[in-house]
Amino acid sequence: MTAETVDLRLTPQRRAVLDVLRAATDHPTAAEVFDRVRRVQPGIGSATVYRTLGRLVAAGQALELTLDGQPAARFDANTERHDHLLCQSCGAAADIHAPLADGLLADVAARTGYAGLSYDLVFHGLCPACRASQAPSAP
Ligand SMILES: [Zn+2]
Ligand SMILES: [Zn+2]
Repeated sequence: MTAETVDLRLTPQRRAVLDVLRAATDHPTAAEVFDRVRRVQPGIGSATVYRTLGRLVAAGQALELTLDGQPAARFDANTERHDHLLCQSCGAAADIHAPLADGLLADVAARTGYAGLSYDLVFHGLCPACRASQAPSAP
């Protein structure tokens, strides 16, 4: 079926998936995207949402992230080069926009002779909300 090629005609359902993803800053899983899309498109099926996510990724309009220790892939409509912070407690994922290691890439390329280097950088820690809820009550 020719519709299986990367075809991003924006049907209302596909637009709803893209809108949900662009509005999200929390890097939702496919299941979370489906939950949110269902609120605006109650008739939409999970298969449609999952397929649409795959097409958005294939078309370069979304990133699929596999973050350490996370069972499900997360989706990100921010396709600019960026790194991530991952909360070890609640699983929240946040963006870091500074290209932290770009200087390191050039350094590694110069030392090793490798070209076309890329990297995935994930910082692990406790997000501010978890820090606040886990802080001991006495200061
Ligand atoms: Zn957290
Ligand atoms: Zn991100």
